Amino acid sequence: MGRSPKIVLTADRTLMSPYRGISLASFFGCAPALDPNRDHSSFWYQILRNQVTPRVLFDFICNPIDHTNGYANYAPYGLRKVEAALLRDGYSREDVVVAHPDHVEKFIGPETQVVGTYEMDPLGMGPVTMTFTYGRKHMSYDEFYNRDLHYRINAAKARSGSKAKVIAGASGTWQYNYDPAKIEEYGLYGIVEGELGGIGPEIDGAAGSFFDALSAGEFDIANPFKKSQFKVEIKEFVRNDKTLHGRFIHYWNEPSVDEIPNIVNPSMHGMIEVMRGCGRGCKFCDVTLRPLRYYPVEKVQKEIEINMKYGGLKNAWVHSDDIFVYGLNPRTTKNMQPNREAIEELFNGIMATGIEHANPTHGTLAGAIADERLIPNVSKIVKSGPDNHIGIQCGLETGSIRLIGKYADRKLSPYRPDEWHWVVKNGIKTLNENYWVPAFTLIMGLDNDETPEDSWETIRLIHEIETEQPDSKFTTTPLTFVPIGLLEKSDFYDIGNTMDPAKLGVMYKTWQHNFKYGIQKFMGKVGRDTPVKNWFFTQLASTLGGVPLSAMEKFARRKGPEHERVIEKIKATYW
Ligand code: SF4
Repeated sequence: MGRSPKIVLTADRTLMSPYRGISLASFFGCAPALDPNRDHSSFWYQILRNQVTPRVLFDFICNPIDHTNGYANYAPYGLRKVEAALLRDGYSREDVVVAHPDHVEKFIGPETQVVGTYEMDPLGMGPVTMTFTYGRKHMSYDEFYNRDLHYRINAAKARSGSKAKVIAGASGTWQYNYDPAKIEEYGLYGIVEGELGGIGPEIDGAAGSFFDALSAGEFDIANPFKKSQFKVEIKEFVRNDKTLHGRFIHYWNEPSVDEIPNIVNPSMHGMIEVMRGCGRGCKFCDVTLRPLRYYPVEKVQKEIEINMKYGGLKNAWVHSDDIFVYGLNPRTTKNMQPNREAIEELFNGIMATGIEHANPTHGTLAGAIADERLIPNVSKIVKSGPDNHIGIQCGLETGSIRLIGKYADRKLSPYRPDEWHWVVKNGIKTLNENYWVPAFTLIMGLDNDETPEDSWETIRLIHEIETEQPDSKFTTTPLTFVPIGLLEKSDFYDIGNTMDPAKLGVMYKTWQHNFKYGIQKFMGKVGRDTPVKNWFFTQLASTLGGVPLSAMEKFARRKGPEHERVIEKIKATYW
């Protein structure tokens, strides 16, 4: 290879895997990888050493993405946006490389000025991960492979004599504030943050000027008097009598739709974006701090065409934070009533590209049922059916009427908080009738304000749905509360130390639901391309699916009679 590229962009393996085409398996990166404190005389240590989820199994499911001479053939959508923005802003194709994580060292050389890493959950502090690792008592695969990537980058720099600045960006960078020792350990020059706290800024509006300033050394010192759209802050952290520092580059931008470039190379999973922001205003969410912008249909189509033409993709993951908000103006639209015409036009345009499968990523239950023709009409357009289920992630958040009213009342709009249970039940019914399967997320310890009665309301709600609609299809994933959005000054919910019996009950009930109604009853019926593959994954899921239940029962025995009684009560009354 001749001259090394000026800018190398990459992401770790967990963000660069097709996960063998299994939908929702990308969550697997949140699984625990290592237990650093495992007793050396224990049975599991003899078998697995420190490994929790065996690495051979993880690496099998999280298979590496294809590459061409080290160039990633597919990359996270956000990374593709930065790539496209740099090319738009005058960088040449030779200057910008999106590298496969296993081949990043090929590209780092003396002329490399910047290595940019795209990080969603770099230290395993995302809500799902915190749940699976008991609040980081274990190291997750997200963290494990992010660490591995940084070690490789540093080794490549040392080998080639490169002085490249390593900069971490994207929505997970806030995590370095909570474990600043990693900044030094990974040799990070800087961390990109938004001005409103730690949320990821939308850098694709001004990527060229950002990387110009970075390469020119403008971020080397913090100068509060210098006029710049980028602000440098050297943060000081004191941890265990040690003073640590980190360079945080603050940037807040709201690029208009015209300023957001279209991707020029294929994205992971056929991901494309149709809007940014969400007007529903849930207090625990950072998306809602961003203004709403909608992509016109033609812009969406152009990105799908890139994925089809250069990536051979036949599916589109249609990213939004609430697809049912698309096309409406939250300031003037009464009660967040969906703009059905705009949503239908969007999906008609998506299917007109010739794509075979289109799947919105997120949506609210209230939005799904606020217009009774919406889901049936969109279902016709995307051709959902027994062999074409549409999975959609929805925030169930809590069964507590009190909590939903206090923290997320507009999520329910046009309905009232006291109608929440009705909305959930009707939402599931409507979605299922049209072959949509909601994957619910719940927040445990919301703002550290969840009482045992709130938790029992959640358990009862899930059980009511199971008994009233026994054939309903949905999954439930409890996530621990992470202080972001308008609650960024709150404390993390510490699942490892403060899980009261009722919250253990929520975890137990949600997983029991997934196991009994999801894995055992439904999984084998979801069509996959071959019966053998179908059988293999059903067997695997059935075997692994029972493990968390036994682990929670063991945890309850360790914690004492109150925790045990909750498990017994769920088994007797809410099974
Ligand atoms: S509906 Fe979802 S994306 Fe919108 S503010 Fe609420 S949690 Fe955030």
